[in-house]
Amino acid sequence: MPIEDPFKRQIAMRALLRYKICRECGARNFYGATKCRRCKSKNLRPKHEKPKSR
Ligand SMILES: [Zn+2]
Repeated sequence: MPIEDPFKRQIAMRALLRYKICRECGARNFYGATKCRRCKSKNLRPKHEKPKSR
């Protein structure tokens, strides 16, 4: 899906990269989440620890 507006594309990229992974079950969670939505674990890590520059 090509997005031509570079500003919108930036927002979309950020939204896609901003999530947390559960260390217990590997589920994706909302970035601001403190608990896993699947297993209720608080053992979450952010997805983008070192964002790649493209
Ligand atoms: Zn989990």
